[in-house]
Amino acid sequence: MSEIYKNYINGEWISSSSKRTFPSLNPANKKVIGKFQQSNSKDVERAVKAAEQALTSWSDLPAPHRAEILLEVARLLRKNKEKLAKIVTIEMGKVLKEGRGDVQEAIDIFEYISGEGRRLFGHTTPSELRNKFCCTIRMPIGIVGLITPWNFPTAIPGWKLAPALVCGNTVIFKPSSDTPLCAVEIVKILEKAGIPKGVVNLITGKGEGAGSSIITHPKIRGISFTGSKATGEFILKNAGIKKIGLEMGGKNAIIIMDDADLNLAIEGVLWGAFGTTGQRCTAASRVIVDREIKPDFEDKLLARTERLRLGNGLKESTDVGPLIAQRAVQKTHMYTQIGLKEGAKLLTGGYSIKELKGFFYKPTIFTEVKPNMRIAQEEIFGPTLSIIKSNNLNEAIKICNGIEYGLSSSIYTSNVNRAFKAIEKIESGIVYINSSTIGAEVHLPFGGIKGTGYGHEAGPAAIEEFSYEKTVYVDYSGKLQKAQGID
Ligand code: NAD
Repeated sequence: MSEIYKNYINGEWISSSSKRTFPSLNPANKKVIGKFQQSNSKDVERAVKAAEQALTSWSDLPAPHRAEILLEVARLLRKNKEKLAKIVTIEMGKVLKEGRGDVQEAIDIFEYISGEGRRLFGHTTPSELRNKFCCTIRMPIGIVGLITPWNFPTAIPGWKLAPALVCGNTVIFKPSSDTPLCAVEIVKILEKAGIPKGVVNLITGKGEGAGSSIITHPKIRGISFTGSKATGEFILKNAGIKKIGLEMGGKNAIIIMDDADLNLAIEGVLWGAFGTTGQRCTAASRVIVDREIKPDFEDKLLARTERLRLGNGLKESTDVGPLIAQRAVQKTHMYTQIGLKEGAKLLTGGYSIKELKGFFYKPTIFTEVKPNMRIAQEEIFGPTLSIIKSNNLNEAIKICNGIEYGLSSSIYTSNVNRAFKAIEKIESGIVYINSSTIGAEVHLPFGGIKGTGYGHEAGPAAIEEFSYEKTVYVDYSGKLQKAQGID
């Protein structure tokens, strides 16, 4: 019998009023790791009530004191890092060292944001009038809904929870139904660190039920969403007037110029394309390579890809873990068939691995890919890489930009002029030079443009996401002064 986990509302672990649960599976072996509450609108209503009651006392608590609790969260996350990394690996399928990285990112963001408790800066600026003082102060939005995906099951909740809380908001947190156990573990740590009741409320369940009830709830004033473009568009249409942050998909490219350190570039491509089994929003799913070096690049990349070891991520020798679910295997395979139909040439992969018990798909490389093919345009979110040939830097940048997304890009070159041109002309929220498309650090802003969405997480930008600036005018002239020069 697998354990049944509960929602966390108003400081208590309670069952959903639906009386229904759903299982979470280990994608490496399809075993049920626990059962979770299939929440509905009544549960959301209860959570909103708790968050509403807790809002005044939480937002009145001085920010440095809110931050002390977040620092304690960071300490407890660090203490439990290995246990949590294993849970990430078991529930999401990351290899263990990536699971550790996921938890480390959560630790880092709680530590970083706790420092914001002593900043939360507004602005001061001169008035156009004498004897008048102008400034802005940071205020919480109110109750915020945090909706997270499964691919960074501790890091992304951390990226949202920490800034939401330091700014004085209360929270309804709905994690992906693929990784509810990671969410339960984080909330247990928040509880242990001393988050007062009602400040953080965890609701597990499906997007269409629990998720929709959160995004449409009139008392929830902000939504911070990370997930697919389709869900983001749905939220935008249905949420009503709320402060909404959308972090959605990517179709990220690595450009490799003829002057690049090829071995370094190949390391970056392997990490970008097949790290986390290609299931990162910043995964490199396109390589745009200079025609002169393409044959050499392909030979070397192929040799390295064939050596990747697939398996259960708990084994330290595993390089590539499973996909999250059967639907992801099906989607990845559908794109293999689309690629073949479109006339791309399969260099390796293109099939699922039945001998392994879980949802495994062989790392797949297509070459002779044209920039407008669907495999080079649409987010696959699996271990599929498209190699596209280019003749020069301008063409490479044009191909890089010729997609609807704009999250992360990279260029390998030893020419500083080319590097700076790429920094300026590439249309994405993040650009790497001589490094893969992956590698965000929590003290810098993270976010995309174009179809990837808007709003930024991490860095000082995270504070903007979860607060608003109240504008304050103090007139100490003792007379009626009118702005804009009116007498
Ligand atoms: P998803 O859109 O299927 O689900 C994300 C979350 O939204 C889940 O919690 C889900 O339950 C919820 N949801 C689904 N339908 C909903 C609805 N109608 N109303 C409210 N909530 C709803 O995405 P996913 O499969 O979990 O994640 C993969 C996607 O996330 C990829 O597209 C990836 O690129 C993207 N992603 C983006 C970033 C980023 O920072 N830009 C980071 C990680 C993942």
